[in-house]
Amino acid sequence: MAKGWTIQGLIDGKMVVTAFCHNHRCHHNQVLDLQKLKEKLGPDAPAMEWDLRAKLRCRKCGNNDSKRFGLTYVPDYDKVPRSPIASPYRKTSE
Ligand SMILES: [Zn+2]
Repeated sequence: MAKGWTIQGLIDGKMVVTAFCHNHRCHHNQVLDLQKLKEKLGPDAPAMEWDLRAKLRCRKCGNNDSKRFGLTYVPDYDKVPRSPIASPYRKTSE
């Protein structure tokens, strides 16, 4: 992880990357299609926030200013196998 995320790393890690448009009054958000990015940029392309922001374009307002995007990286909990031990909030009694 020293080098940070790559496109393939995000896919393997079952990460969901959502882009938020910070353009004036737009606030559009959109989940990035990692498979498409992989086809376009290659699996080893760097996929840290600042790498991806430069490639974004808002479908709603046409904003393509990388400074006006924010990205969130969230594991896809539906696909990641859950470990009961990993959750501090899980009650031990069942
Ligand atoms: Zn926008």
